[in-house]
Amino acid sequence: MANKPVKALSTIAATEPLKVVNIERRTLTDKDIEIEILYCGICHSDLHVAQNDWGGSHYPLVPGHEIVGKVIGVGNSTTKFKINDIVGVGCIVDSCQHCTYCQQGHEQFCEEGWTVVFNSKDKKHGGFTYGGFSTNIIVNEDYVVHIPAGLNLPNAAPILCAGITVYSPLKHWKVDANKTVGIIGMGGLGHMAIKIAKAMGAYVTVFTTTPTKANDALQLGADKVIISTNEQEMKHCTKQDIILNTVSAKHNINEYINLLNVDGTIIMVGIPAQPLEIGAYNVIKGRKSFSGSNIGGIAETQEVLNFCAKHNITADIELINPDYINTAFERLSKGDVKYRFVLDMQKI
Ligand code: NAP
Ligand code: ZN
Repeated sequence: MANKPVKALSTIAATEPLKVVNIERRTLTDKDIEIEILYCGICHSDLHVAQNDWGGSHYPLVPGHEIVGKVIGVGNSTTKFKINDIVGVGCIVDSCQHCTYCQQGHEQFCEEGWTVVFNSKDKKHGGFTYGGFSTNIIVNEDYVVHIPAGLNLPNAAPILCAGITVYSPLKHWKVDANKTVGIIGMGGLGHMAIKIAKAMGAYVTVFTTTPTKANDALQLGADKVIISTNEQEMKHCTKQDIILNTVSAKHNINEYINLLNVDGTIIMVGIPAQPLEIGAYNVIKGRKSFSGSNIGGIAETQEVLNFCAKHNITADIELINPDYINTAFERLSKGDVKYRFVLDMQKI
């Protein structure tokens, strides 16, 4: 069987806009699921990679890693999905499956390196992977998850990256009703973190540079909002047990480390392209920890989807047509989105 041409939004260089092109998807193998993509969220990582902020971008490039779609084909030896199932695909589409971490379900720590759904060398099939800004994708069923019934599909798409990326560390650091949690940055990840940390029972404080987001933060469940550019508010802010940092650009992290309780932890999930400077004494006084977390494994991605279904959590989104993509990227670069763009891929 020949490879299948499908439509996609692709860019040919860091400074070029995305355009509609045809790409080829591989022929279905025994373990593969073919998915007709309905919706795909737009994460700041898509923008970072499209613009080559971190280096290592390979063009032509098709971003997209918050995929929700319908199963339209199943390989001969698949067991987990059937035609018409509504499914999701996040960042991970392959890993070694035998190292300690893969065996534990932490494919994001795979010792041989995992394959990202886009801009990644495809070790099994050759070439580079193309992501979810397209109409179809073919993925090994071990990296596909079920979207629980009851979740609104376009609003559920961001759970596949934003949701899992904030859920995984909040769970790892045992967030519950006895913890105070600060969330820096109210974008795609940050607004999901408010909802998930609240559902875990925490007292949630949001730190935002955008005063007009304050009311929304409270509506989404935050207990307190601090405008981080206001020195007085920062000075009088109560101390936090955990601070989840979702900021996408260089910023002064020391002023947040100073807001941690003794033994508190600040967790990086945002990935500014430039290194951040940390004053040693800021972590020393109070035995504080500086840490980080990278998405989450496949089993945990299913877990966060189930958690969100149980607690009635989805993203607040702006549903857009594919021809709006370059404006959406432009607005995302300025933090101007409430609070996640999601592409309606059927409209391409
Ligand atoms: P986003 O929607 O653009 O949100 C980022 C927020 O950070 C902005 O809304 C803004 O919030 C704040 N911000 C931006 N520039 C700032 C600056 N110069 N100083 C202070 N605050 C600033 O992005 P996202 O999709 O949530 O992604 C956030 C970051 O996480 C990105 O770097 C992305 O690559 C990374 N990411 C990491 C993982 C992982 O596995 N670790 C997974 C997904 C994404 P306010 O307006 O509220 O200040
Ligand atoms: Zn992402």
